[in-house]
Amino acid sequence: MFRSRPLRAPSFLCAALLALGSASTAQEKIDEEALKFLREHGLSAEKSQVMETLSWLTDVHGPRLTASPNLERACQWTVEQLKSWGLADARTESWGPFGRGWRLDAYSMRVTGENPWVVHAIPKAWTHATDGKKKGEVLYLAKMTPEQLAALEGKLGDKIVMLDEPRPANEIFEARSKRWTPEELLEQVNGRARVPEDAVRPSRDVQRTFGRGNELMRLLSKERPLAILDRGFKGDYGTIFVQGANALADADAPRDQRPRPYDKNATVLPQFTLAVEHYNRLARLAEKGQKIEIEFEIAASWFEHDGMVPNVLASIPGNDPQIGAEMVMIGAHIDSWHSATGTTDNGCGSAVMLEAMRLLAAMCKERGIQPRRTIAIGLWSGEEQGLLGSRAFVEKHVATRGRRGEEGTAEPVRHPLHAKLSGYYNLDNGTGKIRGIYLQQNEACGPIFRDWLRAFGDPEALTVTINNTGGTDHQSFDGVGIPGFQFVQDSVSYSPQTHHSNMDLWDHALADDLRQAATMIAHFAWHTAQRDGLLPRKPERPAGSEPERGGRRG
Ligand SMILES: [Zn+2]
Repeated sequence: MFRSRPLRAPSFLCAALLALGSASTAQEKIDEEALKFLREHGLSAEKSQVMETLSWLTDVHGPRLTASPNLERACQWTVEQLKSWGLADARTESWGPFGRGWRLDAYSMRVTGENPWVVHAIPKAWTHATDGKKKGEVLYLAKMTPEQLAALEGKLGDKIVMLDEPRPANEIFEARSKRWTPEELLEQVNGRARVPEDAVRPSRDVQRTFGRGNELMRLLSKERPLAILDRGFKGDYGTIFVQGANALADADAPRDQRPRPYDKNATVLPQFTLAVEHYNRLARLAEKGQKIEIEFEIAASWFEHDGMVPNVLASIPGNDPQIGAEMVMIGAHIDSWHSATGTTDNGCGSAVMLEAMRLLAAMCKERGIQPRRTIAIGLWSGEEQGLLGSRAFVEKHVATRGRRGEEGTAEPVRHPLHAKLSGYYNLDNGTGKIRGIYLQQNEACGPIFRDWLRAFGDPEALTVTINNTGGTDHQSFDGVGIPGFQFVQDSVSYSPQTHHSNMDLWDHALADDLRQAATMIAHFAWHTAQRDGLLPRKPERPAGSEPERGGRRG
């Protein structure tokens, strides 16, 4: 979620100013030879490998749900790739325990009777298998009063329940895929945009249903219907946005004490998100008093293991005697949701970071050089489940956050890398090309990034905004005082079509955009490694104060 600061007026101005700065004021030394190499190899359709890397991560190893065998294989394949490109210390490093692995093997749903039809419905992640076909009558609960719900006591065990009211499938008369105009870009980065790119909230009714102390929650926990149907927050024409199932829980239990759907002892009723057009048809049939019977089946596999989940790490060592052990890191999350192959979220970010490392390793090899500072890559799992992988890495290698616990507040602890880590660059907003960067309130980095963006030479990639952006892994670094940044990207069709949907497939990745992004990030990483000083840091936050948030997880 983009949140603009009270500084709005000045940030608008400074965004414009920063973007327009003049060549004569450039402070940063640009390694023209490096930039030439990176552009020649990174932007060329013949030489770039970003789309091939993406196809392996998605077509071969997608989806990559956290703790699933696919994610494990994707991480192993990535380590082998990094080794084959000559990177040092390519390995997986596990965090956790998270929980069991899950894979959706097959599913079906259809309305039976004299006018049978197949229902487009996708089980939510971690929904349990049904052990064969199940059949039941559909009950439309969305408009029932608490009294009507109470009257259903003891009658729901063999029913399939619909919780949401219909959602209009509005015809969209403007293009779904977007490239920001300069005005829109400033709107976007100055927090005056509409629904944030990467926030897919569950439909209100389901949130209400599974909300704290909810009548319906208590009824469902007690009655345990055959299945629960909803229609998601957005999506139409066959695109279904679907995430994780909810485990049945004591409605009054605090959120962090409720079982998670992947926990061994969790009870997870079959939960489906339907194509909105099919959901609305069922609701209209129900409101006409038609008796509806549905037959459905889910085949899914659980994978018992120690619950530990891999991140992928590797580096190009620095060789400067003074600053060689200092580091710049680039990264993205490699995990995804389950209904497609996790292409724009976040196969694209992972493939771009891998390509940036391949380009830098190839350049060092061809020029017989090493960077001054170490350049490292981190591909995180567990991002969709709460930035878990990147937080675990930061906690282990950079600094702890200091937690308020029963025994009082544990002071944050800084590990040696905290003083050496110059910055972290993240990409997690789909397939769109880079248009600029969010400074995460780190004003002092503005002129540096302005110089690098201008040197890169893409007139559409000059935006620098003081604002935060949230919801992804750069926050794990920013949260402990390390300069952590996410790039501004064209949204293309991320929000309306691919982000967490069953259409998040390789065919919706844009090759030119990903080549531009990989080359830009290699350029930023190289110059961060080569400059004399570490990137400037924001003034220290008073101890115990929470880092600026930039919105919910994406
Ligand atoms: Zn993401």
